[in-house]
Amino acid sequence: MSGERQSARSVISPDSTSPIAGLVFYCVPHHIAVVLGLVFALEEAMSPAPVLSGGCLCGAIRYHSSNAPFDADHCHCRQCQRSVGSVLASWMDFKRSQITWLTRSPVEYPSSEKIRRGFCPHCGASISYRHLDHPDYLTLTIASLDNPNQVAPNYHIHTRSQVSWLQINDNCRRYPQQRTEPAPAPQQKNE
Ligand SMILES: [Zn+2]
Ligand SMILES: [Zn+2]
Repeated sequence: MSGERQSARSVISPDSTSPIAGLVFYCVPHHIAVVLGLVFALEEAMSPAPVLSGGCLCGAIRYHSSNAPFDADHCHCRQCQRSVGSVLASWMDFKRSQITWLTRSPVEYPSSEKIRRGFCPHCGASISYRHLDHPDYLTLTIASLDNPNQVAPNYHIHTRSQVSWLQINDNCRRYPQQRTEPAPAPQQKNE
């Protein structure tokens, strides 16, 4: 599992500035407007279509992602249970640069010293999770996707606090607390 997580992350490259922008500097003045129009048109054509889209219950928060998540999990910790209002929370992990907030970003609640949990201030929907020590990563609720079937979790964490009446018969690896696979996750979900 950790191998998948690592390999998935390795294909993610930082956002880069389009080389087309450099064309602007080679234009004579009276052609600048025309070239700028060409630049923006090409930038538009070259920018990747969103892979995933989602938002909160009321629609005040909308986002899209330029990539599929590099990992996803179910968390059964008490903090997630109380925060999302369900007996488990299903999360998907992205590089921060892959997520675009189309309307507004979530309001964040500091559930612990380093953890920020984002929600919609209008409808209360749980949207995001981030660790202050890992500013390049952002985790979103799978349930907030327009189509939650697009992302399936790979493992369970904090199963020690899984409710006793919930039976889950998937083949995902289960961890009583945090993930203990060799590769350290860049963003462990701390309670
Ligand atoms: Zn909302
Ligand atoms: Zn949790």
